[in-house]
Amino acid sequence: MNYISSRLSVIKPSASMAASMAAKALRAKGVDVIDLGLGEPDFPTPGHIIDAAHAAAKAGQTLYTASTGTPEVRTAVAAKFQRENGLDYTADDVIVANGAKQIIFDALMATLEDGDEVILPAPYFVSYPEMAKLFGGKPVVVECPETTGFKLTPELLEGAITPRSKWLFLNMPGNPSGAVYSEGELKALGAVLAKHEQVLVLSDEIYEHIIFDGREFVSFGKACPELKDRSLIVNGVAKAYAMTGWRVGYAVGPAPLIKAMATIQSQSVTSVCSIAQAATVAALNGPQDEVSRFREAFQRRRNLVVDGIRKINGLTLLPPEGAFYAYIGCASLIGRKTPKGEVLADDAAVTTYLLNEGRVAAVPGAAYGLSPYFRISTATSDAVLTEAIARIAAAVADVE
Ligand code: PMP
Repeated sequence: MNYISSRLSVIKPSASMAASMAAKALRAKGVDVIDLGLGEPDFPTPGHIIDAAHAAAKAGQTLYTASTGTPEVRTAVAAKFQRENGLDYTADDVIVANGAKQIIFDALMATLEDGDEVILPAPYFVSYPEMAKLFGGKPVVVECPETTGFKLTPELLEGAITPRSKWLFLNMPGNPSGAVYSEGELKALGAVLAKHEQVLVLSDEIYEHIIFDGREFVSFGKACPELKDRSLIVNGVAKAYAMTGWRVGYAVGPAPLIKAMATIQSQSVTSVCSIAQAATVAALNGPQDEVSRFREAFQRRRNLVVDGIRKINGLTLLPPEGAFYAYIGCASLIGRKTPKGEVLADDAAVTTYLLNEGRVAAVPGAAYGLSPYFRISTATSDAVLTEAIARIAAAVADVE
């Protein structure tokens, strides 16, 4: 008996979760696998944030809150956008959700009609096309090659826009590429969008603070203020404050969109956990020194991975400008044979080989819409990364 809705037939489970599950299954058999599949900061949440959550629970902040978030958290989010991004929004323009993922989910549910197109520069975050399809949307994948720094150009954007375009998704620093857009690059995209009023923009800026080499982060909202009435600026505490499990994301956007998203939340999740919202207030308003400490650690690991991977004959790596992943090119392995005689037909075969022979779990580029690549997470200790690179090098050297 198949009782699962046909709506679900168009989507698949997260590929990074799948890679992690495959690693866990091997581990359960006693194999020592390094899991670089899932990406999340490996630091504990800063102590003052945990203290604030504790205090909130003890003070009785244990009730449902408004569906858009408590006044305190929405005020803190509006102040964050003003202070860090130079954006003018008030608490009324803010919505808080269970992670940036739920913000994106709400936004698509609130806006998509069947057949509406969602422009996804590839490589993209794995959940974007799946969420779009769930609500009847049509992902329009625009491959952004390494030669453009994995970034969308005005020409590529112009070529992708049709009368059915509903959204353009941007993600910077990007998962999986680490690409960061400059203010000039964003303005150039904005100039194209100005000619196409039907297109909304979702700018996923969740890796804002994980940005390297002294680069300045420029929010899409800051670069293109003229598009404010059709821009949703998405962020969250997961990556900046090592709070992935607290599940708090937030966004600012035009009033009709925020209102529709709030209606969805009021009839589904009601609100975000009240204690996690109090923790978010402490994260955004409190000391920010741990954020820089995390950034420095991620930059050091980025350097370690770039140095190590670039020494491996057969792999390429454009140095990531932010986030905590490396998107590794494996074109020269495709079509070659493993020691067992299996042909490495595509990047999925490469990651299967790396898992079984190299004992390193990575995610195939196919999951991100741009092949042949594979993604590793660099959000783990220097020692684990060093060992993983040695294993990848040994496995690649064995390819015939
Ligand atoms: N956007 C991107 C680009 C991500 O990489 C992730 C997490 N992997 C998210 C959103 C989800 O963030 P959250 O944990 O706040 O739902």
